[in-house]
Amino acid sequence: MKIGCPTEIKPQEFRVGITPGAAAEAVAHGHEVLIQSGAGRGAGFEDAAYTTAGARIVDSAEEVFATADLVVKVKEPQAVERAMLREGQVLFTYLHLAPDPEQTRDLIASGATCIAYETVTDGRGGLPLLAPMSEVAGKLAPQMGAWTLQKANGGRGVLMGGVPGVHPARVVVIGGGVVGTHAARVAAGMGAEVTVLDRSLPRLRYLDDVFGGQFKTVYSSQAATAELVAQADMVVGAVLIPGAAAPKLVSRAQLSGMKPGAALVDVAIDQGGCFETSRATTHQDPIYEVDGIMHYCVANMPGAVARTSTLALGNATMPFMLAIADKGWKKACEDDPHLLDGLNVHAGKLTYYAVGRALGIDV
Ligand code: NAD
Repeated sequence: MKIGCPTEIKPQEFRVGITPGAAAEAVAHGHEVLIQSGAGRGAGFEDAAYTTAGARIVDSAEEVFATADLVVKVKEPQAVERAMLREGQVLFTYLHLAPDPEQTRDLIASGATCIAYETVTDGRGGLPLLAPMSEVAGKLAPQMGAWTLQKANGGRGVLMGGVPGVHPARVVVIGGGVVGTHAARVAAGMGAEVTVLDRSLPRLRYLDDVFGGQFKTVYSSQAATAELVAQADMVVGAVLIPGAAAPKLVSRAQLSGMKPGAALVDVAIDQGGCFETSRATTHQDPIYEVDGIMHYCVANMPGAVARTSTLALGNATMPFMLAIADKGWKKACEDDPHLLDGLNVHAGKLTYYAVGRALGIDV
């Protein structure tokens, strides 16, 4: 099969859909891999690395889309890319169709088979192609929060780990899932005093069993959240209610009871944010202040570490990419119901129920 990877064209997107390592695997499986020149540069992979892996470098996205049977990307295809998709072609990438009727319409019209990373499942009810980005965002959250806490950035001027004789920062993580667990581990590793709130008792039991010595766990009631937030130097928002907007767990009124210059890091901002005062920010202008409290609310945190994110995403997508290329998408989906869960659009029809319900389109 011919597998193609164009350069990402969404603003500030530096990741790439196929790493040189994944390209080498695909070549070893007997496939032809086409990479648009410069596609990997933002993630630190020069064309030469792909050539060494056995891939062919092509000049333009047009050539990739015109030649490839399977197009592998990172972000949803932009309008000019959608116009190049064709019947019978397979697209494998993040799509996030539910809030995007325009893209959904174009993908249906293209006749292509579109498999979305974010709806591929695993045997434990998880989302294996979303998890790597949650791991990255979680580990980044205390790092960005620590920077936000610095005086020059408007923060409280507190060092995460303290020093001998001086109390470390108090970090509260709301939501103990993938993001929250990684955030708590890094914050604890930096020497902070960390408490994780969750409203799932099985999850709290798991966290206590595995990380009991590193951070505390507390059931996420309104009263417990309010008390801990008031004492915190940093609060990381990491909740998720699948398919719904994030619940607002810290109100504007609560900010006045917090320590001046404390940092709120709202990782859940891509679902609307879990602090009332959150609004999405960018890597160029990541923080702002409300009532003396600093907010960091970057919606695409993994983009800050494009190389790590590319490698993490590539590790997770590669087995699926190889299955699609080796067997064809149809047999690959027949053999693996979790990959089938990723099928969102096929041959002019929407095939994913939740997207159809969100957009009022028959599935
Ligand atoms: P997850 O499902 O693994 O974890 C979410 C946790 O929140 C669960 O343990 C759940 O029990 C808990 N929760 C739900 N309601 C709660 C409440 N009221 N109080 C306390 N806990 C509650 O999800 P995840 O992968 O960790 O993702 C968390 C959020 O981070 C999502 O909104 C995700 O989209 C977002 N995210 C953002 C970025 C970014 O760049 N900003 C990157 C990756 C993920």
